[in-house]
Amino acid sequence: MSLQLIFLGAPGSGKGTQAKMLVKEFSFHHISTGDLLRAEVKKGSSLGKRLNDVMSRGDLVEDSLVLELLKENCDLEKGAHIFDGFPRNLEQAKSLDEKVLKGANVRAIHFQIDLEALIKRTSNRRICSDCGSIYNLITFPPKKNGFCDQCGGKNLVHRKDDHEDVIRNRLVVFEENNGPVVNYYRSKGILITVDAGEDVDVLFKEIKSEIEEML
Ligand code: AMP
Repeated sequence: MSLQLIFLGAPGSGKGTQAKMLVKEFSFHHISTGDLLRAEVKKGSSLGKRLNDVMSRGDLVEDSLVLELLKENCDLEKGAHIFDGFPRNLEQAKSLDEKVLKGANVRAIHFQIDLEALIKRTSNRRICSDCGSIYNLITFPPKKNGFCDQCGGKNLVHRKDDHEDVIRNRLVVFEENNGPVVNYYRSKGILITVDAGEDVDVLFKEIKSEIEEML
């Protein structure tokens, strides 16, 4: 049965970047609930406007809504997935098991990182709104200032919720909820912890070799 990977870690700990690199290397489907929610916001519907209010504050969207969105966008029959940004709390972890994973071959990778370093990293994050490539103005800047290396687009944006005041709230919310989720997977014996403070390529090598051992 295909491997299903759950990425746990604070906002900005590198889950999205590593997921994108792994998609290129292996045949994973990458499911980011943050991306799915932002796509809803972009539609400008009344649901989108409500989601935008919650997300701009850095709070969590209600569990049932995110779970529905996740279910609509993933089909385990299609193969291996990376779940990025879900689960965010213990209730979501249990629902993911019962309603989506249902006994699949699962590992959780915990991206551990110092939170102050993270604030610095996240406030320097820029994302290409055309192709989704992720940059960091300090550690991984685009080669040509303001332009995406991958697609050449010039829409590198600083997400509203990546500004320092919102990040601080996102980290408070993360800290409140993450411990029980990590313990949940640890107690099942399927937790792998990696040092997300490492350089992007070093971290990638580590995760890649962990995955190769599981396949
Ligand atoms: P992310 O891109 O994963 O950092 O998510 C951005 C925002 O989307 C979060 O700050 C939450 O407001 C919302 N969000 C993403 N995933 C979830 C989730 N699993 N549960 C609740 N809210 C979520």
